[in-house]
Order: sequence, then structure tokens, then C-alpha cells
Amino acid sequence: MPAREEVVEALLDEAGATKLPTDEDRILDFLDLKQLSFDFMHEVDFLPKQGNKTPEIRAALSLNDRVVVTQSGLNEKRKRFGIFHEIGHFISEEHRRKLFNVNVHADTDATLSWWTKIRMEREANEIAAELLFQGQRFTRESLDQPTSVKTVLQLAPQYGASYESALRRYTERHLLPVALIVSDQVPKTSNEHSDEEQEFTLQYTITSPSFRKIYFSGLESGDALRRSDFFGTGLFRKDVVEQELTVEASGGRCWKFETEVFTNTYKLFQFIVKPS
Ligand SMILES: [Zn+2]
Repeated sequence: MPAREEVVEALLDEAGATKLPTDEDRILDFLDLKQLSFDFMHEVDFLPKQGNKTPEIRAALSLNDRVVVTQSGLNEKRKRFGIFHEIGHFISEEHRRKLFNVNVHADTDATLSWWTKIRMEREANEIAAELLFQGQRFTRESLDQPTSVKTVLQLAPQYGASYESALRRYTERHLLPVALIVSDQVPKTSNEHSDEEQEFTLQYTITSPSFRKIYFSGLESGDALRRSDFFGTGLFRKDVVEQELTVEASGGRCWKFETEVFTNTYKLFQFIVKPS
């Protein structure tokens, strides 16, 4: 079986979707799939019932009808990623067989292990990312330019990608030892705090393969960060600020890194450029 990357590259090629951003309509056309948007909350007949729980769904695929449905009102980036995700299920033989074999059991969920479902969802997301970033194209283009958050901020819109997904892709595919620390907003307890005092707490860490070999693969949650720790009280959106970061390793060792900090206002991204 050809590797996933080759399948996606062939699909982009044959569907004539080699311009940026990836044209989802051309791929849907090529696969003879239709695309509809509707409100899942009010038109759930299409979906298998899951008790009385209202599923939080962004996109779905009906194999028999050859239709990809997205939740109406999704923003453009999420809608495209949802479509790419469903295409990921559609082009994977195992997914089609296991996710859509309604003849085997009334409730297909019960025939699949939790782990198999998680794995296939992850695979569909990986295919979606391949389509969004057109295989190696984004990586090649970004590695030709200086190692910096600014390179990503400039490229992401051309791919129709969010800054967050582009920063993740950039970091996990980078050849140099780089890492990305992503922090999420702590919900405000009152309105007394100003934006500068908004607190962020560690959400996840992404590392490049060479970074993992030399340093670490993840961080544990430390103290909350404040926006003013990095950006002062001035303008902060879309600014990139340089700051040194010290990480304590086990055994009392310390690593110092040069980092670039960026916020899309919802999350704080600290990109480790190199050891200092
Ligand atoms: Zn899925």
C-alpha cells in the first residue's frame, strides 16, 4: 500500500488542486462528492442516534449519498479542515470499511474499539493536514526562509491555514532543534483584570525530531504566564517578541533558549528558535 503522503500527492495532482490555497471543491469534484452545509443541531436525521446526547459535530460524511456535510456557520478555516478530514476518511479503505459498515451491527460504535476510533480520527486529521499544507510544499517553502515565527505568519494565509496549525506543522517538520510551547487563556474570574493581565496556562508542547533527541519532548505545567510578561502594555496582536527561556531539567540542569513569542489573542505561542 502506498504511503499516505504519496496518496495525497497523487490526489492533489490528479484533481488539479496544486495551487494555493488547496481548492477543496476540485478535490470533492474529482472524488465525485457533494458538499452541503446544515445545522446538525436541528437536522440530525442524517446522523446515527447516540442516546440523547447532542453530538458536537463540525463535519460528517455519508458514504451512500457521497455527501460531505459541514456545520453551517463554521468559519472558513474550520470548514475547509472539516472537509479535508472527511476526505481523509473517504480515501482510506480501512476507514470506509470499519466506520461505514452499517450492515454488520446496528450500532457501529460498538463494533469498534475506542482505540481504533481514536486512531482513525487521528489519521483523518493527518490526511487533512497533508491536503492543507500540500504534502511537503509548506515545509520546503518555510525551511528556505529564516527560522522564525515571522516566516510562518507570512506563509500561513497563503495556505488558508490558521497561525496555530501552521506553527505546529512548521515545528514538527523542522530539521533543526526547535519547539513550540502553546498556552491557553485561563478563564477570567472577574472583569477587573485588563487584557494585559490576562493569564495563560500551558496547553501542549510540539517538538521537532532533532529537538526531542537533544532536549525534551514536552513540558509540565508551570506558573501561569501574563500577557504583560511579554508584550508590556502596548500593542500585542501580531507582534513577535524575543525572549530568553530557561527550562529546568531533572537533576538540576538548566537549558537556556532563545525564543520568539506571539499571540493570536486566544493563545500564546512561544517558539524555541535555538539554544542561547
Ligand atoms: Zn472523523
